[in-house]
Amino acid sequence: MPRLASLIVAIACASLARAQEPIDKDDVAARGAATGRLSVRVRVIKTVPQQATVRINWRRGGEGLSGTVVRGAFSTSDTKPQLPLGVWTEWVSLKEIVGTAKGWEFPSVVVTSEPIIKGKSTAPGATLSDVVVEFEFAEEGKVFRQFAEPAPKGATVGFAFPGSVLASRVTPEFSTQLNGLSTHARLRRERLEKAFPEPSPLPKQFAIIGHMGGYGEGPPGVRGSHGFGVRHNNPAILLEEFRTLSLLGVNGMVDSVKLADAAGVGAQFRRIFWGPPGSGDPMAFFQKSGKVVEMPDGCPFDPTLKPYMRERVAKAIQEHRAAAAKESWGLWDDEMGVYAKEHIAHCDRCAEVFREYLKSNQVSLEQLGAKSWNDVKPYSLWLSEAETKNKKAFPTGLRPAPETAADSLRYYYTYRLMSHANGQVFTEAAKTFADAGIKLYAMQGPTPSWNGASLDWHEFYDRKPNTAFVFETSNRDARVWQWESYLADIGRGIAQRHDLAQGCLVKPHRGAPAQRMLSVIARGTTAFEWYTFGPDYSKGDSFSQSPELLEQVARAVRFLGRAEPYLYGATFEKKPEVAFVTPRSSEIWSKVTDPSLAAFENAKWVYLALRHAHIPLDVISEQQLSEGMLNQYKVIYVPGPHLHHKSANALREWVRNGGSVWTDAAGLSRDEANQPAAEMNEMLGLSERKLETWGSVAQYRAAKLEPLTEANPPTAAAISWEKATVPARIAREPLSPSTAEPLARFSDGKAAVTRNRFGKGEAIVAGFWSGLTYSATVRRSDFNMRSDFDPAIRDMIARTALARNVYRPAIPSDPLVEAIALRKDGQRSVALINWSYAHSETATNKASLQSLENLRIELPGFADAKSVRSIQHGPLKLVNGAVLLPKLDEIDLLVIE
Ligand SMILES: [Zn+2]
Repeated sequence: MPRLASLIVAIACASLARAQEPIDKDDVAARGAATGRLSVRVRVIKTVPQQATVRINWRRGGEGLSGTVVRGAFSTSDTKPQLPLGVWTEWVSLKEIVGTAKGWEFPSVVVTSEPIIKGKSTAPGATLSDVVVEFEFAEEGKVFRQFAEPAPKGATVGFAFPGSVLASRVTPEFSTQLNGLSTHARLRRERLEKAFPEPSPLPKQFAIIGHMGGYGEGPPGVRGSHGFGVRHNNPAILLEEFRTLSLLGVNGMVDSVKLADAAGVGAQFRRIFWGPPGSGDPMAFFQKSGKVVEMPDGCPFDPTLKPYMRERVAKAIQEHRAAAAKESWGLWDDEMGVYAKEHIAHCDRCAEVFREYLKSNQVSLEQLGAKSWNDVKPYSLWLSEAETKNKKAFPTGLRPAPETAADSLRYYYTYRLMSHANGQVFTEAAKTFADAGIKLYAMQGPTPSWNGASLDWHEFYDRKPNTAFVFETSNRDARVWQWESYLADIGRGIAQRHDLAQGCLVKPHRGAPAQRMLSVIARGTTAFEWYTFGPDYSKGDSFSQSPELLEQVARAVRFLGRAEPYLYGATFEKKPEVAFVTPRSSEIWSKVTDPSLAAFENAKWVYLALRHAHIPLDVISEQQLSEGMLNQYKVIYVPGPHLHHKSANALREWVRNGGSVWTDAAGLSRDEANQPAAEMNEMLGLSERKLETWGSVAQYRAAKLEPLTEANPPTAAAISWEKATVPARIAREPLSPSTAEPLARFSDGKAAVTRNRFGKGEAIVAGFWSGLTYSATVRRSDFNMRSDFDPAIRDMIARTALARNVYRPAIPSDPLVEAIALRKDGQRSVALINWSYAHSETATNKASLQSLENLRIELPGFADAKSVRSIQHGPLKLVNGAVLLPKLDEIDLLVIE
């Protein structure tokens, strides 16, 4: 998505190209040579009004597609740019027009009427429409393909060049796929229709969003203007694409409902409208004229921002009303980052807000080591531009951790203030939109599944800036696709806390579209976009060019159509009895104390291990923990060394009253100011906390999961658990029990896992990065998820919850099958999601799904069930409280009656 600037787009485009690249380098060379042997010529056979001569320009790339725009013009054989109607141009090498064409290329051809009068000024030409262009393609002079492409509403046509199927010579497959856009779009629709001959209900309640583009009406404009992003002027193409969108279950539009109207199908695409203010952020207000910068120096608390935002909101509301959809959501900011970083340290207004913020968090002057509030200033977190240029020395862009407790406290709260500042920017806008019946959302990148972010979701939404929570799926590595469940569980908690609608951008070309869809829907998502259809000739990072993905998506929505009565508006069947605390304080401090961010990386895998053990979880913030209200929980998992002291106090009281808390390496050893949390030692029953580290983990960010790096792992670090022996990975914390009892030991006899009775409850500490250790094997290049997750490590993580007999309503026999028990209007169901992939060199995303046969699913949460029916397989026999599912591919839903 656009805002994280060109870098992300560049990565996206690069990898799109990568997916289409052949494995063999010889193929690339052969293809390059093959393209060099191809040429094309065109002629214009019709224009309205009729012209004696025309000019014919071409362009490719840019304007929403990858790369920059490359332009050229056809000419006569004697190199004149004016071409009589009906006369062929000179042959042009296709290499010139399509470039290297590793994948698809979609060049546009624009016919203009501009006459050239030598020596005099150029008069504007007539406005052309109803233009028809004929194409002829030849290989080494021999014509192999011809077609005509009409532009009824203008003078722009385009063609699709299937670079990915071009071998060393032109093949029938290549020739069949080389088409004008009208045929390209029609074949797409026909192929998909053929794949699903049986009628099947599509979702009516879920809002499924699609994107459309590339169509424009009228001429490309006067000289210099080429109709930005317009790839054709043919309503018939639009109609084909909208028919394809319908087959994908799409019933709402982002940005472009007018195009559905132009195709004559507007009524079918008004279930929802995702519209303005748009992907830019309100801080654009502070952009100085001239160079646009990523983060303009403005103050998010500046009162002059408010009138500007009110104006934007009023305008957006009008656009939403004009779109006249059944439901309207406004996007404001795409892949939201924080709006002020170093600004905060130098702004008097921010300093004032900071002092109020500290007071509202009951921070005292004494803690800050200050005599007067006037002396309290935000901490300068970020290195100056000159300092950051020295990237090698300062990889994070952050200053080193402060030395004193008082400075550390300021550091911590300044860090948090960044998210707080973003949140308050939108509070008024969200309310104005809500009064107009429009939801407001920021599109969040999946940062909690990456290496974190300056912006904290919990802190941001606590300011009530939005009325809908939306994130995008982006992770490319099959091994972490289930982190979608982590993100959606965080979102579910936030949505429940603030009564928000939930939406998602599901990216089919990132893999597992059906699983991702069901994962977010089972957690309350009612609106999602298949991001992004494109179409391929109009938008990069799209999936419409892939027949395989179109079929996967169409299959997923056909499932959803049948499952909709049980899924739309469904909630968890029962509240989870286990909470998982997001490690925000640990994230903040890890960034300046541990370059590999081990605590943060570890936590994501702890979550997964618990899900692999089929334990339903509430993901909560430290703030929520400090607010108490923990009585529904039997067990709370708090991974990470740092925890706010108020959260720690609440946790201790809850344990004293009978709760079980679990943590692992260095867990709960420090407070929000990065100071030793000695008072937690009593609860944990430990006397000293010390981590021994011999390796590192690479921070995960969207792309490939890397192996752990270990130098000379000590032999002493193996843990005996039941009958297994498991080496702790990259680090260990030999535990020093004071009152705790060891449950497991390292091979040198030191305590590896301890339990301490505290009041009526207990505290369990695993003295190693249990999540990272759990992930160690699957990090190999030829991974197999079904065999790479060690059940002994999973058990070390999950045992605390299992021993408390926590609510586990549905237990598939395979850990990689996620089960989510749901309830809707008294109807109960269990969503089943198969996340199990194995490495495959030839498969899309280098991973192939491992289907399961005869999957046994125990249903202890449904002891009163009379019958169980699978959406995919029909009635199942219920024997001893379990069913046998004959086959599970991507997803299924068990309906319990
Ligand atoms: Zn400021």
